[in-house]
Amino acid sequence: MSTPPTPGLYIVATPIGNLGDLTPRAAELLRSCSLVLAEDKRVTTRLLMHAGASVPMRTYNDHSDAADRTAIVARLGSEAIALVSDAGTPLISDPGFKLVREARAAGHEIFTLPGPCAAIAALTLAGLPTDRFLFLGFLPPKEKSRAEAIAEVAAVRASLVLYESGPRLGASLAALAAGLGDREAAVARELTKFHEECVTGTLTQLADRYADAAPKGEIVIVVGPLAGAPEPTSDDLDAALRAAMQAGESPSRAAASVAARLGIKRKLAYERALELGR
Ligand code: SAM
Repeated sequence: MSTPPTPGLYIVATPIGNLGDLTPRAAELLRSCSLVLAEDKRVTTRLLMHAGASVPMRTYNDHSDAADRTAIVARLGSEAIALVSDAGTPLISDPGFKLVREARAAGHEIFTLPGPCAAIAALTLAGLPTDRFLFLGFLPPKEKSRAEAIAEVAAVRASLVLYESGPRLGASLAALAAGLGDREAAVARELTKFHEECVTGTLTQLADRYADAAPKGEIVIVVGPLAGAPEPTSDDLDAALRAAMQAGESPSRAAASVAARLGIKRKLAYERALELGR
């Protein structure tokens, strides 16, 4: 019989579609821990059967509160407790951050068992630069907040990775094209599953493709960085701001559009727009 695991919290990544991706270490831990914290027990039941594990489960999800965490943390000194998500890596657009923080504050051991993550899997397929990337999770559903969230990252010189659902894909791609310019992008769908695909193109091409044809399944969008554009000079910035303001845009609007187009920080463009406007 193998030795029981050291007491503490175990963050266990699970497959995002193909059960064969459960790591041997994760399977062993799920068999030998004393409790599994699951987002949805019905989903995790299938995983535990696959791993040959027969251990108690307790629900831990976005509805769990401080009292739930206190009860779990109180057991970590004497028990090995595993946290899993419905799919992929816990804490990545999934619950767990507060639990890890409280377990750490209480001085308990925390172990991570890495494995599948849809964002990373999509990056490996997209054929877009991976040396610098920014994970954005889900964009806000409302149009105005979504445009603001996109404007905030327009100047970031990195690939962007986003989670999205089929029904919102077309609108999100169009909003990304409007806010970031027509960059190269990829739509990675149903990764590790039977219908896995990765469709590439510019944001406008992809927005057109999915405008009236919402795809089924789970989706990651990867957007490439500004295409090899040289760093804009201060003359470029001034010329673009002057043109926008002469066309009637307020300093704030001009700064937002120019910052997105030149790939610079909005605050910097705004300060310069105010100076030029004086
Ligand atoms: N923690 C998970 C991870 O590590 O990837 C992500 C959880 S988040 C609640 C779920 C989202 O991840 C889905 O809406 C989808 O955007 C993305 N996702 C999960 N599985 C996927 C798959 N097999 N293919 C593509 N995207 C997937």
